Amino acid sequence: KNPAMSDIIQLLPDAIANQIAAGEVVQRPASALKEMLENAIDAGASKVQVIVKEAGKQLIQVIDNGRGMSATDARMSFERHATSKIRTSADLFAIRTFGFRGEALASIAAVAQVELKTRQADQELGTLIQIEGSEVKKQEPIATSPGTSVAMKNLFFNVPARRNFLKSNPVEMRHIVEEFQRVALSYSEIGFVLMQNDLEVFNLQPGKLSQRIVGLFGKNYQSNLVPCEELTPHLNVKGYIGKPECAKKTRGEQYFFVNNRYIKSNYLHHAVSTAFEGLIQNDQHPFYVLFLEIDPSHIDINVHPTKTEIKFEDERTVYAVIRSAVKQALGAHHVVPALDFSI
Ligand code: ADP
Ligand code: MG
Repeated sequence: KNPAMSDIIQLLPDAIANQIAAGEVVQRPASALKEMLENAIDAGASKVQVIVKEAGKQLIQVIDNGRGMSATDARMSFERHATSKIRTSADLFAIRTFGFRGEALASIAAVAQVELKTRQADQELGTLIQIEGSEVKKQEPIATSPGTSVAMKNLFFNVPARRNFLKSNPVEMRHIVEEFQRVALSYSEIGFVLMQNDLEVFNLQPGKLSQRIVGLFGKNYQSNLVPCEELTPHLNVKGYIGKPECAKKTRGEQYFFVNNRYIKSNYLHHAVSTAFEGLIQNDQHPFYVLFLEIDPSHIDINVHPTKTEIKFEDERTVYAVIRSAVKQALGAHHVVPALDFSI
């Protein structure tokens, strides 16, 4: 037999396939946190606690009081493409949960040491699973509170090249806080705690959006928030804009959520900025937290897990509705350009 003619293609072992997938899903500690927070929300939690050590390089633990998992599901949750959230391809076009790919836990467990504790409220005992680099080290029944705790330890312990590429602790921590803030903003009815190296960074009680904004960004926002709302047949816009005096030269406090999912869009940002024209300096950016509600069949979120872009069927209409909503809000609250007495 001619050796050059022999077959050489093989399927990759799961552990390697998972590690490759992890390269996409888990870029840094904050991306793992995002996945873990989204799982807690998908599980119907009303309280979520986040514990971070060494900017997530040593530990990120997310503890929720959601519905928990059975012992079998707990083990299944670490398999790739294993999800409870969609069943058919038709479900892909009406996604109502954050997750649907079934990739996050498999990816995280491929590049970290993970300890999962979970219990369903009607069960006496829960399940403990320890898994490292996709290898299950332990699975046993355990007494634990209802809900789920996922602890991700020593991220990239088995991929030194990627561990070395992590940024300094302050930079990685900033990404973690940003991720936490986005999720906490979009679920003000859920209580969130963030602990960093045993210090409490945030302790947010469930409440209204305005209270959540104040809890996250400070008391000076209390009197500076202008409600913003516009309801149309295709699209609802709701939320708050900051009065012009909240505008800052640095960007960062601009938030769009589409069906409660944080998105970035320079195009839609422009819609808000132009509505503020004449009210703030050209080099300043207004504060806003705007929630767009739109029929899921008119958007495509089925892009990359770490991407925050989104495709709208009719982007121009979205732009026009946002701009008009902001203009109206500013008008209704008599926020008009200050008269210039210097001339
Ligand atoms: P996805 O969220 O896309 O389904 P994940 O890998 O993030 O994929 O999670 C796999 C499955 O594990 C989920 O579909 C869910 O059933 C279960 N799961 C993960 N995290 C939790 C949690 N905190 N509480 C309850 N179930 C969870
Ligand atoms: Mg998920």
